[in-house]
Amino acid sequence: MAYNFYAVPPTYDRMVEQLHTLQKRFPFLRLFHIGKSVLGRKIYAVGIGNLRHVNLFAGAFHAQEWLTCSLLIRFLEDLCKSVEESSSKQPMSLHETLLEKGFLIVPMVNPDGVEIALRGPESAGRYADFVACLQEKSTQSWQANARGIDLNHNFDAGFAQCKEAERQAGITEPSPRQYGGERPHSEPETRALVQLCIGFDVRVAFAFHSQGEEIFYEYGENTPPVSYHIASLLSAYSGYRLVHQEGLASHGGFKDWFIDRLGRPAFTFEIGKGINPLPVEQLTKIYQQLHGTLSIASLL
Ligand SMILES: [Zn+2]
Repeated sequence: MAYNFYAVPPTYDRMVEQLHTLQKRFPFLRLFHIGKSVLGRKIYAVGIGNLRHVNLFAGAFHAQEWLTCSLLIRFLEDLCKSVEESSSKQPMSLHETLLEKGFLIVPMVNPDGVEIALRGPESAGRYADFVACLQEKSTQSWQANARGIDLNHNFDAGFAQCKEAERQAGITEPSPRQYGGERPHSEPETRALVQLCIGFDVRVAFAFHSQGEEIFYEYGENTPPVSYHIASLLSAYSGYRLVHQEGLASHGGFKDWFIDRLGRPAFTFEIGKGINPLPVEQLTKIYQQLHGTLSIASLL
């Protein structure tokens, strides 16, 4: 019996199945993988429209934040339906827009982490004992990849400051969350996203986390002036709060690296409100609130 993908948590297998189902139904989608996780799971990307001019949406960097994966795939499915319905004869149709601009979605940057969050350490293959051991030592829920590296601390942006902040917080080794690894881009999941951004010359990047109903848009002096204007627009449209980060409040994150290295706009969305993992029942409400904002963001 068919089930509703959006009514249940997105395990890795369900996500893969859903992406293949969408690709079959909407042949204009391009489904490919950009690398593999520590445990060899493919990290999937989906492209739509002109892939020589793309924005990027990426979700599920953090294990407990798997609802971001459901949100991005839900958006993708609705966008595909709109493309089908949109007539290319209409001026400014979605179809025509996508001939000029496209976008990429990486719904699950951290598949091993999501599996650990949803199915426990046993899902972590050769790292099962290691993960179980780290979990026993900590009261924190799992956010990292299978090696206990927090991917959103592993990007090459202020890495030294990132490590210093970790040390001050007493985090000096692999951990369920907030340990950034020994060196930037040490993790295959991080490298896969970096190579995707460079390979596709991504124009604008959006990272999806949960929770807080907030939008982050700054990282130091390379933040393009237009970032504030885009973020203000998206904030007004979504009702999410715009967060100013005085100086350099965070380091090692994907959006930090994107801004610092490429000098282009990147944003972090903290979706929903509550305690992670946000229950799957919240998806509809979050999606309804963000749908228009995602449409604008995808084709900026
Ligand atoms: Zn997060």
